[in-house]
Amino acid sequence: MDRSQELYKESSKLSPGGVSSPVRAFKPYPLFIKEANGPRITDADGKTYIDLCMAYGPLIAGHANPIVIKAASEQLSRGTVFGAPSEQELALIERIHSEVPSAEMVRLACSGTEATMHAIRTARGFTGKDGIVKMNGGFHGAHDSVLVKAGSGSADGVPSSKGVPADIAKHTHVVEYNDAQAMSDLLEKRDDIACVIMEPVLGNVGLVIPSKGYLDEVRKITSENDVVLIFDEVIMGFRASSGGAQKLYGVTPDMTTMAKIIGGGFAGGAFMGKEEIMSNVAPQGPVYAAGTFAGNPVSAAAGLAQIDLMCSDDNYAKIQRRTETLVSSIRESMEDSGISGCVNTLASMFAVYFGPEQVTNGTQAESADRMMFDRMFRYMLEHGVYLPPSALEVDFMSLAHDDETVSKLSEAFKGFFSEVKRG
Ligand SMILES: *Cc1c(COP(=O)(O)O)cnc(C)c1O
Repeated sequence: MDRSQELYKESSKLSPGGVSSPVRAFKPYPLFIKEANGPRITDADGKTYIDLCMAYGPLIAGHANPIVIKAASEQLSRGTVFGAPSEQELALIERIHSEVPSAEMVRLACSGTEATMHAIRTARGFTGKDGIVKMNGGFHGAHDSVLVKAGSGSADGVPSSKGVPADIAKHTHVVEYNDAQAMSDLLEKRDDIACVIMEPVLGNVGLVIPSKGYLDEVRKITSENDVVLIFDEVIMGFRASSGGAQKLYGVTPDMTTMAKIIGGGFAGGAFMGKEEIMSNVAPQGPVYAAGTFAGNPVSAAAGLAQIDLMCSDDNYAKIQRRTETLVSSIRESMEDSGISGCVNTLASMFAVYFGPEQVTNGTQAESADRMMFDRMFRYMLEHGVYLPPSALEVDFMSLAHDDETVSKLSEAFKGFFSEVKRG
């Protein structure tokens, strides 16, 4: 028996499904990871893989980047948590404020889940309204208000998890992404909506890019209806560009949430926005938000080091160029194989869909062929590439994915498509 299999057997006796987060599970058993460096991870059996999952987004500088590790280590020896403000968190807040257009004021948190939960509460407290609007296929973490999917035949939400009270889900309304008319119709009809929370680029149903002018429309519609616009940039923050998707597309929301990259590979998160809104957060205002580890100095030091590194040396352009090279090669292999599908890409991210010729919203994304994805996942694993185990996750490149890594990846994808072609 493999070591991973052995560990999985033990862990699934004591932990539900043997994993600490469900997306990590796959059949017959998930790989247990022993160590990681640069673009590679090594499992408990000593097998090494090129990683395209990259912990689902935080590691834009690569695993165990020496600059990030040094910043974290230096902080570790000075203490790991103070329960009081520190210079490290102020430095991170200042950096976010200077890069992110909507970040007039910033409050640090511990995760993306916390950031969106607090942001939604703040929007509700600020407007005195309970309703929220999200996108079909939009993911905002694991709390009640956002574990909601589109109800059949109506825009009203139904819980997507057992244990979410219907009384909470009923306040969450779902519209299709890239459909400004649907949002406009909903906001015209209802006067109980506090906020629209959306990923400006969908990053949890593969990768879905806004169509031209869509985000501007969203900005206009929410402003006209006095609804707080929250961009959930937990993935896109310091990924789509140094200032997130909002800087890339030139659309400034009222509030923003971030996590993943700003933690530098440690747990971290933040919500931010207009002073008029953020000043409602306790202790300055009446909306409660708190956390023992919020603004953790180790996370802040690592996050800041990673951001500084990315914002230097044309690094965003470098990693985007390599991603474009890889994506063109995958598209070519796909076309040669005659398999229908498409590859969506932005900055250092991409997603491969089997079936649809284009994917512009959550419904189309979910219509893609999962069996074919599973086949690709297995082939790639056998050939030394670790993809995110679910069809609807994004493939993430990092600064550590150099030209040599890119050609190995291209070869592996090419091998997969020729195998499928052979039948
Ligand atoms: C990952 C993610 C979250 C949740 O963040 P956690 O740190 O896992 O709690 C929220 N929103 C988006 C868009 C995400 O991708």
